[in-house]
Amino acid sequence: MRYSQFMLPTLKEDPAEAEVISHKLMYRAGMIRKLAAGIYSYLPLGLRVIQKVERIIREEMNRAGAQEVLLPCIQPAELWMETQRWEEYGKDLLRMKDRHDRDCCFGPTHEEVITDIARREIRSYRQMPLNLYQIQTKFRDEIRPRFGLMRGREFIMKDAYSFDADEAGLEKSYQEMYKAYRRIFTRCGFTFKVVEAETGLIGGTASHEFMVLAQTGEETIVSCQSCDYAANIQKAEAKRTRPRAKGPGKTPNPLKKVETPDMKTVADVTKFLKVRPRDLVKTLIFETDQGVAAALIRGDREINQTKLGTHLGCEDVKLASDDVVLGATGASKGFAGPVGLSVKIIADYSIEPMVDFVTGANEQDAHYINVNLGRDVKVDQFADLQMVREGDLCPRCGKSLSFFRGIEVGHIFKLGTKYSKALKATYLDENGREREIVMGCYGIGVGRTAAAAIEQYHDEDGIIWPMPIAPFQAIVVPVNNKIAALMKTAEGIYRLLSSNGVEVLLDDRDSTPGVKFKDADLIGIPLRLTIGEKNLKKGLVEIRRRKNGETTLIEKDKVTETVSALIHEEMEASLQG
Ligand code: ATP
Ligand code: MG
Repeated sequence: MRYSQFMLPTLKEDPAEAEVISHKLMYRAGMIRKLAAGIYSYLPLGLRVIQKVERIIREEMNRAGAQEVLLPCIQPAELWMETQRWEEYGKDLLRMKDRHDRDCCFGPTHEEVITDIARREIRSYRQMPLNLYQIQTKFRDEIRPRFGLMRGREFIMKDAYSFDADEAGLEKSYQEMYKAYRRIFTRCGFTFKVVEAETGLIGGTASHEFMVLAQTGEETIVSCQSCDYAANIQKAEAKRTRPRAKGPGKTPNPLKKVETPDMKTVADVTKFLKVRPRDLVKTLIFETDQGVAAALIRGDREINQTKLGTHLGCEDVKLASDDVVLGATGASKGFAGPVGLSVKIIADYSIEPMVDFVTGANEQDAHYINVNLGRDVKVDQFADLQMVREGDLCPRCGKSLSFFRGIEVGHIFKLGTKYSKALKATYLDENGREREIVMGCYGIGVGRTAAAAIEQYHDEDGIIWPMPIAPFQAIVVPVNNKIAALMKTAEGIYRLLSSNGVEVLLDDRDSTPGVKFKDADLIGIPLRLTIGEKNLKKGLVEIRRRKNGETTLIEKDKVTETVSALIHEEMEASLQG
């Protein structure tokens, strides 16, 4: 490709709204342009990267035995009503009407459509295992589209769906995808972690997220320093402290109400009563789709609402409004407590060993001291509700847990029979019995993967593409277009490399070397071949590696073999991770 004929509108300035480096650099490198919030056009350079990522995904999905399909973007509402998701999906689902006034939507995901195919086509256990995937445009009307391709509203996703006769089959399909995903992200050149993720209400038995490690990541990853335990913070557990054996003679003190005028926070109350935050039990009132519930947790810890929702089996869990708190406890926020409370009480395991603790008294400006479980408080259920903290102990090995930031590029999920049940996708087993198909689903954000690569690989001059997903592998830069010999050599090298299968860009623009070098760095091409007058007189060409700035001089007629060797080396290096 010749730069002069290639649409590559690089910019010196960062776009005003870009918050993260990948967004800034994709814009400045002329890869994308914004049409509307979360909706982008891919310019030629951007599309080349997207297609590289897609090629790696295709190769690995095909290798794992999955077959490519292409499903419709526009989907009829009826299908979504069958799974209840027409109501449940909420505002992320872009709904529209056709000319006959029929409701439809732009697919944010394709469980309904693929299960509809399965229920029509799969009759017998002999037709499984089956794994179908597509690479296609999704639309999710995200409440906060941001970070460019990282969280768009319209975006390209690879989604795959597996169909098996039973759980054991699903387990095998899931492991195949797990391995394929590892290969995909390794081949893209990432440093990543696979973490356990929340399965939530989809009711699956397992889910893993593939996280690219980056400071700007939206996700918090909890990872053991010693063993391979890693989980999304929403799912992460910590080793539980055992209930303390009550020493002989340690009888609980009598319950006592004390005045705590205007003291609503843990800090205020504990300071006033001269106790530690961990000697207090916080009572948080939640509104859920099953009514009002109270969650108890030690004063120095926080509730993980996702865990609470999963425990209760509720989609929607939110902190109660002032009115609801008043109605449920008889007092304003800050004075709620479990003594005499009539709503369902779920307590975090952390309070199990506590004796003589402090709680709100469900009365304005009052708290109880010497509260004890059993005698004063009737807990309905104990559960793990706490948000894990850095330094907590690993639930597997007991060593310390650390936190990382990550970008979720892939997500695999055991669905079980949720969709086959709703859509009646059944098959006949060996004994002629009708059974529900067991499903899994597997997603990768293609644009987010490209963006994540930039988050992980860049410097102050621009992008540093890992070789496997670089839009071009090499760029040939003649430093002065006015010198015929330079241009001729550059053209010759460009043609030779191209005919040897190297993806090469020739910077044939009539610009200063400074401008050409800056652009080459900005767009992040791994190898730069500089054709300069002085070197050329000695029959030499300079090769510079973008990733470390290393330059070497090579003989003009060794260019192809040297470039091929370096490409090979960098491809291999990214495979080693
Ligand atoms: P997130 O928690 O980031 O919203 P998700 O759990 O909704 O992601 P999935 O439904 O599992 O995502 O979709 C599969 C993959 O699609 C994700 O792992 C991610 O890489 C990508 N993806 C999801 N939403 C977006 C988006 N708004 N923009 C770009 N990529 C996305
Ligand atoms: Mg989402």
